[in-house]
Parts: sequence; structure tokens; C-alpha cells
Amino acid sequence: MLTHLGKINRMALDFLFPPRCINCGQEGNYICADCLQTAPCIKPPVCPVCILPITGNRRCDCRFWQSLDRLSAPYLFQGAIRKAVIEFKFHNLRAIAPFFARLLERHLSTRPVSCDLLVPVPLHKKRFRQRGYNQSLLLAKELGKLTGLRLAANLTRNRYSPSQVDSENARQRRVNVTGVFTWSSQTLTGEKILLIDDVATTGATLDACASALKKAGASTVQALTLAREN
Ligand SMILES: [Zn+2]
Ligand SMILES: [Zn+2]
Repeated sequence: MLTHLGKINRMALDFLFPPRCINCGQEGNYICADCLQTAPCIKPPVCPVCILPITGNRRCDCRFWQSLDRLSAPYLFQGAIRKAVIEFKFHNLRAIAPFFARLLERHLSTRPVSCDLLVPVPLHKKRFRQRGYNQSLLLAKELGKLTGLRLAANLTRNRYSPSQVDSENARQRRVNVTGVFTWSSQTLTGEKILLIDDVATTGATLDACASALKKAGASTVQALTLAREN
């Protein structure tokens, strides 16, 4: 009943205040068709494991990974996508989650991933209290509704760390994230996991999540994010 009311409220709000394109202001959607069309997609040549664009003699982020099998993402963290993710993450724009989930589903439909379970990257409880929501959980829930895939939000983040919005800083910091996450549910024997997050930077956080999931028995851990920093 409450969720129905919530839906009706949302529809009424959308009717009264239709979403506007975060990039150009056009009415109708959070990112209009024109801005989405020109959003920076991830296109070959990229590393097949960490999807880092292959340019010059730049070295891959995935050489540091120990547990994460593969990363996939439809967009680079630039332009309209970057603006929209920042609104989603830092300015309470939770309402954009279903829109982002449709972009993820569209990406999966052309690049299928073999998986049994969606697992969102968790926030530390202090960060969760500050923000009031976990954007990755919202994404995973909406993606679960669209794909019918099961969701398990049983990863816990044990260490509080500053938000990584700047890729260069994140790369320089390259903190040791081993043991940062623990899995607090039944064993995952043989399960194929798809980790969900909004943005991947170096993949170090995703790799630390993957390590906890593999310790719990997962056979493969891949990650899907909306965007990837390069
Ligand atoms: Zn636009
Ligand atoms: Zn790579």
C-alpha cells in the first residue's frame, strides 16, 4: 500500500514537476535523448578485463586486481553522465535510479553477463547516515526489478574512507583495501556474482568486495557500473 502511494506521489510529482535534463535543461527526462546520444560511451580499443581505453603505453588498472574477474560499464565518467551521477550521489537525486538502471539493463542486453546474484557495493554506516541512502543499492534494486535477478545486500564496509571523486587522487592514494569488506550471510558456494556500483575508478574497491565474496565461496565476481573513470 505504502509503495503504491509512493508510486502515485512520484507520478503526481513527475506530472507537476517533470524531470529536466541535468545537462541542458530540456524537460522530459533526467538526461534527454540528445544528451544521452552524445554521452561518452566506452568503445574499443579497451582492456577486455578493466575496460580502460588503450592509449599509448598506459598500464592497466587490472594488473593490481586479485579477485575481481571483470568490469563492465556503458559510459565514461564524463559530460552528462558525470553530472547526473554527481546529482545522484551527492545531491539526493534518488529518483534517477530507475533511469540509470534502464541504461544498465540496455548495456547488459548487448553484452550479457553470466550471473546468479546482484550485490551492491556497500557504504560505511557513517557515510550511510550522512547520505541517508546507498546509491549502489538503489541501482541494484531497480536493476533487479528489470532483470528478475536476485539481490543480496549482505556486504559490510568496515573502514571509513573519504569519497573518491577525483581519479588522479584515487590513483595516487591507492590505499590498501584488503579486508575492508566482509560478507555477512550464508556461503556463496559456486555462485556467480555481479557487483553493482555507480562509478569505477581504479577498481580497487570492487576488487576488495570481490575478495570478500570469493572468500565466502563465490565462483566468479564481475562488476557492472554505470560509468568508468579513465
Ligand atoms: Zn539534454
Ligand atoms: Zn585492464
